[in-house]
Amino acid sequence: MKEFILQNIIRKNIVALKPYSCARDEFKGDDAIFLDANENPFGVLNRYPDPYQNKLKQKLARLKDVPDDKIFVGNGSDEVIDLAFRIFCRPGIDRALSFPPTYGMYKVSAAINEVEMLEIPLRNDFQIDLPALTPLFDDERLKVIFVCSPNNPTGNLMNPDDIRFILENFAGIVFVDEAYIDFAGSQSLISDIDKYPNLIVAQTFSKSWALASARIGIAYSNAEIITYYNKVKAPYNVSGPNQMAALEALDNEDAFLNRKSIILEEKQRLQKELSEIPLIKKLYRSDANFFLVEVDDANTIYSKLIEMKIVTRNRHSVIKNCIRITVGTPDENDALLRELKTKS
Ligand code: PMP
Repeated sequence: MKEFILQNIIRKNIVALKPYSCARDEFKGDDAIFLDANENPFGVLNRYPDPYQNKLKQKLARLKDVPDDKIFVGNGSDEVIDLAFRIFCRPGIDRALSFPPTYGMYKVSAAINEVEMLEIPLRNDFQIDLPALTPLFDDERLKVIFVCSPNNPTGNLMNPDDIRFILENFAGIVFVDEAYIDFAGSQSLISDIDKYPNLIVAQTFSKSWALASARIGIAYSNAEIITYYNKVKAPYNVSGPNQMAALEALDNEDAFLNRKSIILEEKQRLQKELSEIPLIKKLYRSDANFFLVEVDDANTIYSKLIEMKIVTRNRHSVIKNCIRITVGTPDENDALLRELKTKS
């Protein structure tokens, strides 16, 4: 196996980059007269936020048992994904790889960054096709492999042994997107960031933390990779109100656990009830907070639900006649079940 050497994977211009040094990099502390950043002296949101989100990182460090220099906070995990292309992939030259059907932004971000996205379709059981993948480990221009676990839109966890096989045999970056991991009742790969120098684990506050509007995404990796993330990000990439929202959520772990347990209970209920509805031909097992369901005619069912103001995600274009349904509140789920039952 080729050895993973980070310096060979990072774009040379990023290694050489002298990052923007913002006013708040030079003076640390809150207690001063600030005449350094051309802010307005009046108001509540008049000051630039902490560019490195230190308070938030300290709380995350305690929660995840990871030192804060191994944590990057982004404007949603979409930023964490985009920065991976900008740090590791030379536009027009390098490649990334993903396992469709999967989260659409890997491919969109690749296209924005002019990076070719190789695709190895998941097997019929929605697991990674390792024999098809392995020959690509020799591709010198393949820099990042995206693994989504639990996967969107299929809902299943990827086999952790397969992910470790990729980490051990691929001499590039393995980006494991764990947006839905808190619903999975399974261990995060964050505990492996010291073992694998090529591992980036992404998580988000948009799902289990109920803060999609606050746009808080996180990367956990080794301190060196995190340094490059910090170098490339926009100076104040996470707004002050958004940092506050995440801090407040972290201070209220009971609410987090309560919401999660309601969602998991509702998920069980939906699983039982959906599987009894004749219109639903197949209900895929889910490790996330949504279900992929196969129906006779996804376009029709999707449109009929829309008429009733119930918005699901039509995935027919990626998996034939499949719709993705998020677990809602008990009332929302009742409404969905009512409609599906009357359509059956
Ligand atoms: N990864 C996956 C797998 C997702 O499904 C989503 C959102 N749909 C994201 C990342 C984006 O998350 P964020 O809101 O943190 O940008």
